[in-house]
Amino acid sequence: MHVVVTGGGGFLGSHLCDALLRRGDHVLCVDDLSTGDPENTAHLAGHPGFTFVQADVTAALEVPGPVDAVAHLASPASPPDYHRRPLATLAVGSRGTENALRLAVARRARFVLASTSEVYGDPVVHPQREDYWGNVNPVGPRSVYDEAKRFAEALSTAYRRTLDADVGILRIFNTYGPRMRPHDGRVVSTFIRQALDGEPLTIYGDGSQTRSFCYVDDLVRGIVAMIDSDLPGPLNLGNPSERTVRELAELVRGATGSESGLEFRPLPVDDPTRRRPVITRAQHQLGWFPQVTIEEGLRQTVGWFRSRRGQASAERTARKPVRC
Ligand code: UDP
Repeated sequence: MHVVVTGGGGFLGSHLCDALLRRGDHVLCVDDLSTGDPENTAHLAGHPGFTFVQADVTAALEVPGPVDAVAHLASPASPPDYHRRPLATLAVGSRGTENALRLAVARRARFVLASTSEVYGDPVVHPQREDYWGNVNPVGPRSVYDEAKRFAEALSTAYRRTLDADVGILRIFNTYGPRMRPHDGRVVSTFIRQALDGEPLTIYGDGSQTRSFCYVDDLVRGIVAMIDSDLPGPLNLGNPSERTVRELAELVRGATGSESGLEFRPLPVDDPTRRRPVITRAQHQLGWFPQVTIEEGLRQTVGWFRSRRGQASAERTARKPVRC
């Protein structure tokens, strides 16, 4: 297949590019690198099936050659990123999604939208099934992301209904793994960085809020299965194993062997109190379920963070001027 991956330079997108290339697909990765990192796909430079285009999908999405599927992942995704770039977040969820949909329709390609558990907002129904409509504050600080993704779902659904577009919607829950940016502000990357630096782990609120964390390899298997299907969704993709933020801090301390303390900070406005996916739809319709435990996933992620730090300090040493 020839697959266009928007946001392919990001954490999740770059793992998706890897998975598609591994099975022999051709991948055209489009990313403006506003929150993505060229390092994420540096190992793919020179791969005969891989093309990288640095472009903003809100401007236009013109792609030469055949296109069998478009996986639309482009968007800032961590709360600090979308708070920093509110207008860009709304633009990529709306105009960017429309450009990606237009490309898919013009080429009669499969279109998979990476939507989010954030469409459920601060859910009053727990755990979350796909038929729950959510509880989003449309003028709150998270609305730029939540409403952009809700609009993207509405737009994709309208394309399916009116243009018979082959659209599939995935609602992706919290995902972690190698290639998270140490300073992206998300809880897993932040706790690991703090633990490795011997700094206190910053817990927002009392840490009783919950999230359900899915390892990136599991999640990517689900996206690939959705690309290969003709299912409309929406389908939840996530690991239903729910943890409080306090529990996560303990798990990270265990995985790093760190003795970092805890530092409590105010809970951000509209921070969802709980989140856990019901994944029976994905299980029945895609045959998908997560397999990696949080202990194993954190071990892999911590290993990657450690290797990156080792590499960075080796590069710093190599750059030091040599005195003769
Ligand atoms: N969080 C925290 N400390 C941090 C970063 C985040 O306690 O240093 C909390 C945050 O308030 C939220 C949870 O961890 O309740 C998950 O936050 P994240 O930004 O990873 O994702 P999201 O809120 O979008 O699920």
